[in-house]
Amino acid sequence: LFITLEGGDGSGKSTQSALLTDWLVEQGQTVVMSREPGGTDLGRELREIILHRRGYIAPRAEALLYAADRAHNVATLVRPAIARGEIVVQDRYLDSSVAYQGAGRVLDPVEVRDLSLWAAESLLPDLTVLLDLDVAAGRARLDADEKVFDRLEAEKDEFHTRVRDSYLALAAAEPHRFLVIDGSLPAEQIAGSIRSRVVELL
Ligand code: C5P
Repeated sequence: LFITLEGGDGSGKSTQSALLTDWLVEQGQTVVMSREPGGTDLGRELREIILHRRGYIAPRAEALLYAADRAHNVATLVRPAIARGEIVVQDRYLDSSVAYQGAGRVLDPVEVRDLSLWAAESLLPDLTVLLDLDVAAGRARLDADEKVFDRLEAEKDEFHTRVRDSYLALAAAEPHRFLVIDGSLPAEQIAGSIRSRVVELL
C-alpha cells in the first residue's frame, strides 16, 4: 500500500504523516516513512542542492532534480517495501511536481507529470491525501515554525496560489485516488478522517 500526503507549505503534512504512521504501527502494520525531496541518501544530497543552494536553478533543471530524487526513492525504497507487503507513507510525491514545477514554475503540467511517471516507472499511490489550506494560513504556520527554505520562502503568494489551485484540479481529476481535507481543521480531526479512509484500504 502506497499512501502519499500532499499540500502547500505549512499545510501539516509532516504532522499527519507521523500520526498516520504511529496509528498504522499500532494496528500491527510495518510502515516505511519517506519524503520528497530527501527520502534516500542520494535524495538528501539532492534536497541540499534544490532547497539550500543559493542562486538560480532553471525550472527544467529543478524539475529534473526532483525527478531524479523520485526515481531513486521509488526504485530503492518504495517498490521494495511494497513488494515486502509493507505500507509506505510518503510526504509529497509526483503531484508536488505537477503543482510546484508545473503550475508554480509555469512548465507544462502534462509534460511534468509524464516526466514523473517515467521516473517512477508509472507507480501511482493507492491514496493521496491533499491537505488544502489557504496560502496566508500556510505562510503564518511556516513563520511560526521558523522553517525557512532559501528558495521557496521567497516565492510570492501568486506562486503558492497557483500551486494550491493546481492541487485542487488534480484532486478533482482523480477523485478516487484523492482524499481532500480542510487543512485548517484540528490535527486530531484530520487524522481521524485519514484513518477512516485508510481502514477501507487495509
Ligand atoms: O515538504 P517540504 O517542506 O519538505 O518541502 C520542502 C520545500 O520544497 C517546500 O518549500 C516545497 O514547496 C518545495 N518543493 C517543491 N517541489 C516539489 C517538492 C517540494 O518546490 N516537487
